[in-house]
Amino acid sequence: MSWQIDGKTNGPDLAWPDGKRIAVMVTFDYDAEFLRMSRAKSKGTTIGFTDFSRGQYGPHEGLARCLDMLDATGIKSTFFVPGIVGEKYRDTVEEIAARGHELACHGYMHESDRGISRQEEIGILEKSESVLESIWGKKPLGHRGPESIIHPFTPELLAERGYLYSSSMKDCDWAYLWEKDGKTLPLVELPCDITMDDFTYYYFTFSDPAVRSMYTNREVYGNWKQEFDGLALEGNKIFILKLHPQMIGRASRIGMVGELIAYMQSQGAWIATCEEVARYVLSQTYSREEARNDEMA
Ligand SMILES: [Zn+2]
Repeated sequence: MSWQIDGKTNGPDLAWPDGKRIAVMVTFDYDAEFLRMSRAKSKGTTIGFTDFSRGQYGPHEGLARCLDMLDATGIKSTFFVPGIVGEKYRDTVEEIAARGHELACHGYMHESDRGISRQEEIGILEKSESVLESIWGKKPLGHRGPESIIHPFTPELLAERGYLYSSSMKDCDWAYLWEKDGKTLPLVELPCDITMDDFTYYYFTFSDPAVRSMYTNREVYGNWKQEFDGLALEGNKIFILKLHPQMIGRASRIGMVGELIAYMQSQGAWIATCEEVARYVLSQTYSREEARNDEMA
């Protein structure tokens, strides 16, 4: 089985609506304590009680600030939510949906093991989809692997289950369609990178291996603004912020994101949910790719 993952097919061909130079998606991975738990499991370690509580800062404090900031800037976001977070913190996920944001799949227990079988992944997707659907009223259409981990069979599985997009790869700054055995799948990849991930800049720990530095908000703003400016100049690229309520939802930090969004709005960016961008990409490219599939058949 071979997958074309270079992303070089669709990117340069694609023009954003109304002549917009760039598509921006402000996304959140709403992991609560399950990010740390899955990371400890995949490393064969355990986490302490207080470390556990660091993840709970998301549902207890950070999320409300993120939602208020989104309302203040007037944009809609995509929240990738593990199924168990939808169960344990159901009222908060209902609040995300009630405020008009998109819910997308992010594992059930935030499973980041590399040895998951196709059958196990189907079970994880079924459980997660049913929790999110019971809150949102419709099935999730997007997927991001916990810790960005997906498997060789995942894209085809997502396409079979009616997903419109995946957002786990890091290979380019374009939206592109997945392929399998030379045929195009109706599944858009929206790659995102740790460059635009809040954990990259704000994660701090005394445990081994210790990380004892933290970037200032001005430095983070500067990095993200430069990335945005560079991509907007190149044209027809995507810019995805990957944020976590437990990390970016501090009182000292959330205003910086609002400021960046206001800047991107002032530059005429198309700021949309992942679903909106994926639908647009499919509408522009998939019929063309289907014709190519037919020619090859
Ligand atoms: Zn996550």
